[in-house]
Amino acid sequence: MKDLIKGNLTPENKKIASNRNLKVKICLKCHSHNSINAKRCRKCGYGNLRLKTSKLDKKGDR
Ligand SMILES: [Zn+2]
Repeated sequence: MKDLIKGNLTPENKKIASNRNLKVKICLKCHSHNSINAKRCRKCGYGNLRLKTSKLDKKGDR
């Protein structure tokens, strides 16, 4: 329990967190995270969302 308070993530938690990061949509307007099922941004209502690119798809970072 003390580890959780310090903010240390167990390997299991990291796994869950990284899996979650692959299933989000990013608002093109305000860049907030939305659920994969979202049709519009929950924060600003903007309808143009893109899938967050996973590290696996990243070929070159310019
Ligand atoms: Zn937004």
